[in-house]
Amino acid sequence: MKLDSKIPEGPLAEKWTNYKADQDLVNPANKRKIDIIVVGTGLAGAAAAASLGELGFNVKIFCIQDSPRRAHSIAAQGGINAAKNYPNDGDSIFRLFYDTVKGGDYRAREANVYRLAEVSNTIIDQCVAQGVPFARDYGGLLDNRSFGGALVSRTFYARGQTGQQLLLGAYGALSKEIHKGSVELLTRQEMMDLVIIDGKARGIVTRNLVSGELEKHFGHAVVIATGGYGNVFFLSTNAMNSNGSAAWQVYKKGALFGNPNFTQIHPTCIPVHGDYQSKLTLMSESLRNDGRIWVPKNKDDAKKIQKGEIKPTEIKEEDRDYYLERRYPAFGNLVPRDVASRAAKERCDAGYGVGTTGLAVYLDFKDAINRLGKHVIESRYGNLFQMYEKIVDENPYETPMMIYPAIHYTMGGIWVDYELQTTIPGLFAAGEANFSDHGANRLGASALMQGLSDGYFVLPYTLQNYLADQIQVARIPTDHPEFEKTEKEVKERMEKLMSIQGSKTVDSFHRRLGLIMWDHVGMARTKEGLEKAIGMIKELRTEFWKDVRIPGKTNELNVELEKALRVADFLELGELMARDALDRKESCGGHFREEYQTPEGEAMRDDENFTYVSAWEYKGEGQEPELHKEPLKYENIEVKQRNYK
Ligand SMILES: Cc1cc2nc3c(=O)[nH]c(=O)nc-3n(C[C@H](O)[C@H](O)[C@H](O)COP(=O)(O)OP(=O)(O)OC[C@H]3O[C@@H](n4cnc5c(N)ncnc54)[C@H](O)[C@@H]3O)c2cc1C
Repeated sequence: MKLDSKIPEGPLAEKWTNYKADQDLVNPANKRKIDIIVVGTGLAGAAAAASLGELGFNVKIFCIQDSPRRAHSIAAQGGINAAKNYPNDGDSIFRLFYDTVKGGDYRAREANVYRLAEVSNTIIDQCVAQGVPFARDYGGLLDNRSFGGALVSRTFYARGQTGQQLLLGAYGALSKEIHKGSVELLTRQEMMDLVIIDGKARGIVTRNLVSGELEKHFGHAVVIATGGYGNVFFLSTNAMNSNGSAAWQVYKKGALFGNPNFTQIHPTCIPVHGDYQSKLTLMSESLRNDGRIWVPKNKDDAKKIQKGEIKPTEIKEEDRDYYLERRYPAFGNLVPRDVASRAAKERCDAGYGVGTTGLAVYLDFKDAINRLGKHVIESRYGNLFQMYEKIVDENPYETPMMIYPAIHYTMGGIWVDYELQTTIPGLFAAGEANFSDHGANRLGASALMQGLSDGYFVLPYTLQNYLADQIQVARIPTDHPEFEKTEKEVKERMEKLMSIQGSKTVDSFHRRLGLIMWDHVGMARTKEGLEKAIGMIKELRTEFWKDVRIPGKTNELNVELEKALRVADFLELGELMARDALDRKESCGGHFREEYQTPEGEAMRDDENFTYVSAWEYKGEGQEPELHKEPLKYENIEVKQRNYK
């Protein structure tokens, strides 16, 4: 298979403009004859469906929750980037592009990232027009704050609830189209497989999660906007039902999977506190604007804190190690997430960690409160402080927060070209579900930007370019043999799972998989560990298919069956992640191979041999997947060792 990323010709800053000028369009009368399926109602899916509906296409949008507003995007806290340069601190489209490519450790495609930076400003205009209540300064102008990996303030925010407000904006736009009849909303419907007819994506099979019935839906094109697969680790900051199944289904149908191992570990999460925990909570990166990260300078103090003998507030200023400020004076507490996460792990592994487990560091607001007053901190982060207090039962205004890195985001995903089209014609992927823009590490506040860019501003153009020669294709009835065949395969898979009736719960397998992933495919990876993980995952998968127990029936509401189907996919996806991490014999961004590090413990890339996107092709059950390489070319940016000092 030859990968074609379809990057338009011309200078970087003109590529997107040229693309739009040259693309094919569908005339308004023909748009009405075209059906598009959008799977997912998060920011990417809702924005895409609303925009495509407004253009005049017939759209069907699906989600597993009972309302589009419950997509995981609602949880996003800190903000969304844009190169508006309102604070006049030196920002520009080029700088946002540069920071994003550098932040991703030079493993993202230049043309995609530049388009993202270019479109970023329009997103803010769009959302303001929708009424999204971004924070404003005293004079009424939109306010900005800083996020990691940037020396400018370019993050627009709505307290610690930016995702919620943006999703309500997108939902409003979507609702308008639903009311108009251009979009049909199908909630509590889970995509179970993709239907391909004559080599093109032509529909999906879904399961009605309330009745258990299978349904078939036709589309001239299909968009997957089903979010990320961080829950392969069991414990993550993702919503409990975030999953990788739609991405996995299309991978098995021929779409390549890009950079599966590129996972983001977020440095500021509430630490794990017990074996029975099923969810981790993020404390937004925005807190690093005002919070200072430290651990005790002396191991004895750390030990005493771990045993509960002393409190952090008793540690004198000169006995605190503000290790990020010490190691990275230029960026300080605002180094990118991968760098901050590894630095926390390094301190804790060396015995300086705090909390009862020793696996935590402090995020302290004492100085900010003294400087700005409690009311300012409260107005900026009030809801996050409240959340922290509810979970940890400590008042973060009085005692520093405890934080530790946790799985948060997946940069990897379905491989897409510049048009966001996968290797299956007519199948597109948007938002966190695709691999497109963040390379080996995503900068904070860039996921919302990418999801909305894909949905509002990219797909409405690129999908049309594809659909322009599909107007002669009549709607295909869903009793077509390919629909019937796919439905039968889905039914058989569910029946196979239900027939096992073993002795262990789905969650017990998921938890064990998560531990394997965290220990060997997590923050630090080694050849031995990854090989071990591949073997362990295989064994666990065999055990799962022999011994999982799923109560209830297929043709009724059955939450355990839903989970089992997703965990069955995670048990395969986890192996591909380990394989990909094993192949990449370098460290870059969130992918840290212990064998490849500088004497100071920083990630050591191998640009000569690994400046490529890994794109994996499914070769059938029990067969090894095939690795394809999309070479990355940097023509507008000098590839350097990242330096945040
Ligand atoms: C706690 C937290 C805070 C964050 N804060 C920020 C932030 O401040 N700034 C930032 O830029 N990013 C942030 N992120 C990342 C960002 O929230 C996500 O990357 C982004 O919201 C993903 O949007 P999406 O539209 O791609 O997918 P999602 O919002 O995950 O939506 C997925 C949709 O797909 C549907 N779906 C899934 N599978 C199926 C299926 N098989 N069939 C049918 N439907 C399906 C779901 O129902 C849902 O509607 C944060 C992430 C977390 C975990």
